[in-house]
Amino acid sequence: MHTGKLMARLNAKNVRFDAGSGGTPELTPADISAALAMVPPGLGRELLCRVWWPDGAALTSHELRMLLDGALFGEWRERADAMVIAQIRVATAGESTTRQRMARHALDGAKARMWPSIGETYARLRDTVVEELCDPRLCPDCKGHGHTTTRDIERACTRCEGSGHVARGPTWRAERLGMKHPSYLALWDEPYRWLLARCTDELQDADRAMVKALGPVVA
Ligand SMILES: [Zn+2]
Repeated sequence: MHTGKLMARLNAKNVRFDAGSGGTPELTPADISAALAMVPPGLGRELLCRVWWPDGAALTSHELRMLLDGALFGEWRERADAMVIAQIRVATAGESTTRQRMARHALDGAKARMWPSIGETYARLRDTVVEELCDPRLCPDCKGHGHTTTRDIERACTRCEGSGHVARGPTWRAERLGMKHPSYLALWDEPYRWLLARCTDELQDADRAMVKALGPVVA
């Protein structure tokens, strides 16, 4: 079952298209919104609404941006702290060459994990991640159908796992961030994919909570 598609039925403009979709016609809009109310508040629930049913969001888009900034810069700070700790270890390694070598090696690792300095690009990155979640690329293998047909046999599409959508590529992301492809790959791919993965995880948790809440209804 696709909870997003169920939620999308709650959008006024989709109401007349809902007949027979999703294979669970017995669910009423009241069932669906009651299940959404069981999803714990937070990033996942807000993203679920943002993607599928904007009217169901509890937070304003400004509050959602603040949640995302909190996640992004919280991670930035952890990486910066790790670098400072590694620098202190180098400075206090003493005479032992083994300890010095290990401390320098750890510092190199922390530096490699460090993201670019805080600046305007992070806001653009955050908004682009949300845009990608709301508007993923149509799967090129199944053209968005979620299944492929070979010799009259219908199979779930393996590339998109039946969702009909796949992640956007680095070219699209670099263009949205207003930079060249190599700069994106060298500096911004890691924070971008980190935030996208974090949001995807939160979305999956919210989705699971909603499936659980719908359980007795769809069983
Ligand atoms: Zn596909």
